[in-house]
Amino acid sequence: MKLDQALQLLVQSGHKPPPGAPGSVAWLQGLIDALCDLSSRDALTGLANRRSFEAALAREIDRVARSGEPALLLILDIDHFKRVNDTYGHVVGDQVIRIVAEGLADCVRPMDLPARVGGEEFAVILPNCPPAFGQTVAERIRAKIESKIISLTPTQHLGVTVSVGGAFAPQWVRSSPSLWCERADLQLYRAKSEGRNRTCLEPTPVSLVSAEEKGLLFGNTLSGDSE
Ligand code: GH3
Ligand code: MG
Ligand code: MG
Repeated sequence: MKLDQALQLLVQSGHKPPPGAPGSVAWLQGLIDALCDLSSRDALTGLANRRSFEAALAREIDRVARSGEPALLLILDIDHFKRVNDTYGHVVGDQVIRIVAEGLADCVRPMDLPARVGGEEFAVILPNCPPAFGQTVAERIRAKIESKIISLTPTQHLGVTVSVGGAFAPQWVRSSPSLWCERADLQLYRAKSEGRNRTCLEPTPVSLVSAEEKGLLFGNTLSGDSE
């Protein structure tokens, strides 16, 4: 891609042109930084996109395996969102997605990473999150979104809820992003099936290590175990 095309892409997506004289080192660095930012964010909400979420999740897995610090992954899904689209149209649907994203971002610490990982699905990585704090933060996010009133017209208002599933990263063990996501997804499924607008976290930080995780930690040495 030529530099002028890169600049055009940046400006079209609402970024300011980089500071400094065009072609200077500072200008080029500004352009690269802004393009990196653009490629890591979701255009609708400004949250991290799926790609940067996955990269952050892999980094966090490594960090937890090294440090043993607890880290929580929350996955959120808007309840009955299809009804919102069907009743009010996709433009309102998009507005709801943006408002949910704002509510989510308002509830987390600067060190946490909220992301939009699918159409109406979000995730948050919470590094160094003590187990006792997990349910509190998940519940705070759920309640914040439930409390938002979306005004469509001066007389027409809309509210939405989310279901939240959460799981802690297995400590001192090399897991994988997909296993961690599966655990949180399982809890999200539980929240949906228990009636939605609720938070479900894995009951204890995972001390149970799956066979697959043992394999990741110890290589193939356990694969021949017969117990
Ligand atoms: P549940 O409570 O089980 O999650 O039900 P749901 O209706 O939210 O779930 P479902 O997966 O059936 O519907 C999700 C809908 O989200 C379907 C799709 O049309 C809509 N959707 C996905 N991405 C976008 C988007 O970017 N904008 C809008 N407006 N709608 C989207
Ligand atoms: Mg969904
Ligand atoms: Mg949904």
